[in-house]
Parts: sequence; C-alpha cells; structure tokens
Amino acid sequence: MALRLSITIKIMKPVKPNQLIRACLCVLLILVSQNGFATNVVEGLRVWPSPSNTRVVLDLSAQPEYSYFTLSNPTRLVIDLANTQSNFDLSNVKSTSKLVKKVRYSTPKNKNSVRVVLELDIPANTEIFALPPTAPYKNRLVIDLSDKNEQPQQAVMTSDRSTRDRDIIIAIDAGHGGEDPGSIGPSGTYEKNITLSVSKKLAEKIDKEPGMRAVMTRTGDYYISPNDRPELARRSKADLFVSIHADAFTTPQPNGASVWVLSMGRANSELGRWMERTERHSELLGGAAEVIQDTASERYLAQALLDMSMDHSLTTSYDISKIVIKELKDVTKLHKKRPQAASLAVLTSPDIPSILVEVGFISNPKEEKNLNWAKHRQRLADSVFQAIRQYFKKLPPDGTMWASLSKAEKRTHRVRSGESLSLLAQRYNVRIKAIKEANNLRTDTVRIGQVLTIPST
Ligand SMILES: [Zn+2]
Repeated sequence: MALRLSITIKIMKPVKPNQLIRACLCVLLILVSQNGFATNVVEGLRVWPSPSNTRVVLDLSAQPEYSYFTLSNPTRLVIDLANTQSNFDLSNVKSTSKLVKKVRYSTPKNKNSVRVVLELDIPANTEIFALPPTAPYKNRLVIDLSDKNEQPQQAVMTSDRSTRDRDIIIAIDAGHGGEDPGSIGPSGTYEKNITLSVSKKLAEKIDKEPGMRAVMTRTGDYYISPNDRPELARRSKADLFVSIHADAFTTPQPNGASVWVLSMGRANSELGRWMERTERHSELLGGAAEVIQDTASERYLAQALLDMSMDHSLTTSYDISKIVIKELKDVTKLHKKRPQAASLAVLTSPDIPSILVEVGFISNPKEEKNLNWAKHRQRLADSVFQAIRQYFKKLPPDGTMWASLSKAEKRTHRVRSGESLSLLAQRYNVRIKAIKEANNLRTDTVRIGQVLTIPST
C-alpha cells in the first residue's frame, strides 16, 4: 500500500530517468513481496508498564500487516506479522509489567511471517493498532493491555472531600511519557523526562506543606492520553490541576516560560494554534484509538457541557496563572507576560481550575541546557509551588484545613489605635452587642492591644 502510494506521487512530478528506474524497482518489490519474500523487519520491542495497564511496542521497518488471537491455559496473546522477518532477540526483553510475564517468538504460520507471543498473567483487554513513523521512532505496532477486572486508571484516592478540614488537593500532570517523548531538544533531551522531574519536585514541596497534598497523573515513564489526565484529577477531587510541559518550536530562537489556560474558542496567538496542532499530533503519536473515537459530535457535546460550569474554573485558572507568571519571572525568562489561552485537551476539566505551565523552550539550546540542570528544575518547581500556596492562602476552598485556619485567624482581633467597637462591628459585619457578649465587656470602650474574640455572624 505504502509502496504503491510512493509510485503515484512520483508520477505526478516530471519523471526523470533515474526516478523511472526507482519506480520500476518499486513495482518489482511489490511483485517480490507478493511472491512471498519478507519485506518487513522486527527491529525492536519495548514494554511500558503503568500502574493500571501495559503498552507493548514493536518497532518495524515498514507498515505492519498483522492479525492476532488469544489462547488460554496459560493466557497468551499471539500476534502474526505477515511478510516479516525478525532481526531482534526477544530473550533480552525484561518485563516489569504486572500483566506481561514474558515476550517470545513462536513457530510462525509460514517462513515469511513472524509470530510473537505475549505470555500474560491474567486475561487482559487488548487494543492493537499501527502507528506511522514519528521521531524518534519508525513504524510501530502498539499493543495496549489492561486488566479486565480492574477499574480504569486511578490517581491515588484521597479522603472524602466532604470531611471537614480536608487537605487542598493539587493534581500534578507531568506531560507526555512512555512511547510519547514530547518535544525533543537539539541535543536529544526528551520533554517527558523534564516534565516528570519538575512535577516530582513540585509534588514533594506540596506534600511537605501541612494542609496540602499532591496527586500525580503519572509517576513513571508511561503514556496517559491527554483526555484521561483531567479525568484522573477529577477522580481525586482535586482543587487545582497543573500540567507541566516544555515548549518547542520549529526554530531555535523562541525561549522563556509561559502559562496557559483553556480558551473557549480558537487560540488567541500563533503559538497557541501551533500548540493545538502539536497536541493533536501527540495524541496520534501515543493513542491512535482516542483520535478515532473523538468524533465531531462528541466534541460539540463536550463544549456544551463545559460552557455550563466553566466560569468559576476559568476565573480561578486565570488568577492562579497570573501569580505563577509573577513567581516564574524571578527564576527564568518569560515567553509571555500574560496567561495564554488555547483549547487543549488536558485543560478541559469543567469543574477543576486547570493551568498548563510551559517551563521553557526545549528547542532553544540554552534553555535545553538549563532544563537539564536539576537546580533549575527545582527553582521552577519552587516558584510554581509558591504561586499555588499564595493563591490558596488567600482563598482557601471551603471545608479545608486552611479555610478553618483563616476563619480562626479572622475570629480574633487585636485592637489598634483609633479603633472602636462600632468600627469593628462594621468591619466584621456583626452586632456591637454580640462582640460585647463574646468578650464579657460591660462598657463600649476597648483599649489598644486588647485581643477580642469576634463572634460569627
Ligand atoms: Zn508538551
């Protein structure tokens, strides 16, 4: 199929003699392959376990022709690759996956095919699809396995949000992972590693802060689709969702950090539109299945649902973004001084304020170097943490420990020069009589430095 396509393209252009030879060669190759010589080659195999599922990826020299079936006792998944030979030794593949015990070859259907067997621990849901080449990989066959009995991926479950004095929960989302490296820097740095490192440092800071707790969408090198990430935050009832990424552009010049919030319409900048496109690209890279399911009507429905409950989340997201930018300014260059808006799948949680922090441009050689420096990543994490802390100190969500503390703080008042009972009554919106009762005051006079209990209204 791919070969035939390449001939069509060549014929459309003016044909030079050597191209004609190449076209003839292609025709020959097709004939050869139909006569039973293997044209595809297995070049590698990787196993990416995540807490709830496992992705197995076969590297191939060309687009695969494949079929598969399962066997029980013991549970196996058998994949047949037609017109394929193998150059890769599977005995060295180590699997730490809970689902996949072993990967091995077995006797193929014929001498021009390859049979790969995945020995499974338990029966698994299976999804198999081919992926076209995208740097740094060539053609691939992806096998997604998930435990049939297990619920879909779940972030570490937290205490009931209705309990009093609960922690403020911050969901941290390290961009990309596993088969999806994200952007790749000029000296080969993978975005997925930078995002995970900054995210872990941020989570550490949050967990050290009394009254705050972090949940992470991923804690290792595995793939989660952009649509599942906000879902994980929702399940852990997060108060804020922070997605960490590193930017890239087609030219090496752009640099600096930026913070993004969801746009209800099209992106408001050239870079925003670029990001919308590349995010789509990233979904293709890691999860072809989702792209197929993401029909236009579903998008429309999602949009309608969003419109209803988005207002509060958007305002909060925007306010937090501004503080994050202010804090980042002290530790890195800024690409944009104001929050940017784009319609990105990771930001579409309707009820959870969500921001995306681009910590710098990995495509800029100098910033790539900085991002590879642990101390710089720590500074980035620290400033995002400071911003989040500042925001929630000022506006703690109801029912949290911080909300109770700030109430308690408000409930006592040290009298300063020029203050009277009537002034305090007005300020705290309580009756003078109530303040007097709460403090056993017989007269209306208060003295400077006196600490008064302010009753609730
Ligand atoms: Zn990214």
